[in-house]
Amino acid sequence: MTEGSNNHQYQDKLLQCVDCGNDFIFSAGEQAFFASKRPPLAQPKRCKACREERKRTIHPPMTFDEARECGNTLYPGNNHQGVHQ
Ligand SMILES: [Zn+2]
Repeated sequence: MTEGSNNHQYQDKLLQCVDCGNDFIFSAGEQAFFASKRPPLAQPKRCKACREERKRTIHPPMTFDEARECGNTLYPGNNHQGVHQ
Protein backbone atom coordinates (compact mmCIF):
# COMPACT_ATOMS: atom_id res chain seq x y z
CA MET A 1 0.00 0.00 0.00
CA THR A 2 1.52 3.29 -1.04
CA GLU A 3 -0.38 6.38 -0.03
CA GLY A 4 0.82 9.51 -1.82
CA SER A 5 1.75 12.00 0.84
CA ASN A 6 1.12 15.28 -0.91
CA ASN A 7 0.03 14.15 -4.32
CA HIS A 8 -3.72 14.45 -4.38
CA GLN A 9 -5.44 12.20 -6.81
CA TYR A 10 -8.63 13.78 -7.97
CA GLN A 11 -11.41 11.62 -9.26
CA ASP A 12 -14.42 12.59 -11.27
CA LYS A 13 -17.28 13.38 -8.93
CA LEU A 14 -20.97 13.13 -9.55
CA LEU A 15 -22.82 16.21 -8.31
CA GLN A 16 -26.44 17.26 -8.55
CA CYS A 17 -27.40 20.54 -10.15
CA VAL A 18 -29.44 22.80 -7.87
CA ASP A 19 -31.19 24.34 -10.86
CA CYS A 20 -32.30 21.45 -13.06
CA GLY A 21 -31.69 18.59 -10.64
CA ASN A 22 -29.63 16.65 -13.15
CA ASP A 23 -26.46 14.86 -12.18
CA PHE A 24 -23.30 16.24 -13.68
CA ILE A 25 -19.62 15.41 -13.59
CA PHE A 26 -17.22 17.57 -11.61
CA SER A 27 -14.17 16.30 -13.36
CA ALA A 28 -10.78 15.61 -11.80
CA GLY A 29 -9.26 18.36 -13.90
CA GLU A 30 -11.86 20.87 -12.73
CA GLN A 31 -11.34 19.86 -9.12
CA ALA A 32 -7.61 20.43 -9.45
CA PHE A 33 -8.28 23.81 -11.08
CA PHE A 34 -10.77 24.85 -8.41
CA ALA A 35 -8.44 23.76 -5.64
CA SER A 36 -5.53 25.68 -7.17
CA LYS A 37 -7.37 28.96 -6.75
CA ARG A 38 -6.63 31.20 -3.79
CA PRO A 39 -8.85 30.93 -1.95
CA PRO A 40 -9.95 27.59 -3.37
CA LEU A 41 -13.28 27.71 -5.11
CA ALA A 42 -16.23 25.82 -3.72
CA GLN A 43 -17.43 22.94 -5.80
CA PRO A 44 -19.97 23.95 -8.42
CA LYS A 45 -23.66 23.79 -7.59
CA ARG A 46 -24.85 23.81 -11.17
CA CYS A 47 -24.28 21.75 -14.24
CA LYS A 48 -22.41 23.23 -17.16
CA ALA A 49 -25.57 23.98 -19.11
CA CYS A 50 -27.11 25.92 -16.24
CA ARG A 51 -23.86 27.78 -15.58
CA GLU A 52 -23.71 28.82 -19.22
CA GLU A 53 -27.34 29.87 -19.02
CA ARG A 54 -26.67 32.02 -15.98
CA LYS A 55 -23.70 33.64 -17.69
CA ARG A 56 -25.94 34.67 -20.55
CA THR A 57 -28.57 36.06 -18.21
CA ILE A 58 -27.89 39.49 -16.82
CA HIS A 59 -28.30 39.03 -13.11
CA PRO A 60 -27.66 42.06 -10.87
CA PRO A 61 -26.17 41.10 -7.50
CA MET A 62 -29.00 42.61 -5.47
CA THR A 63 -32.01 44.72 -6.31
CA PHE A 64 -33.77 47.12 -3.99
CA ASP A 65 -36.60 44.64 -3.64
CA GLU A 66 -34.24 41.91 -2.53
CA ALA A 67 -32.55 44.31 -0.14
CA ARG A 68 -35.91 45.08 1.42
CA GLU A 69 -36.77 41.40 1.64
CA CYS A 70 -33.75 40.68 3.81
CA GLY A 71 -34.50 43.69 6.00
CA ASN A 72 -31.65 45.73 4.66
CA THR A 73 -32.87 49.31 4.43
CA LEU A 74 -29.72 51.04 3.33
CA TYR A 75 -31.67 53.19 0.91
CA PRO A 76 -34.86 54.38 2.62
CA GLY A 77 -35.30 57.26 0.17
CA ASN A 78 -36.30 55.11 -2.77
CA ASN A 79 -38.26 57.21 -5.28
CA HIS A 80 -38.68 54.45 -7.79
CA GLN A 81 -41.89 52.50 -7.64
CA GLY A 82 -40.55 49.38 -9.24
CA VAL A 83 -41.04 50.63 -12.78
CA HIS A 84 -38.86 48.68 -15.14
CA GLN A 85 -38.38 49.74 -18.72
ZN1 LIG B 1 -28.46 22.17 -14.40
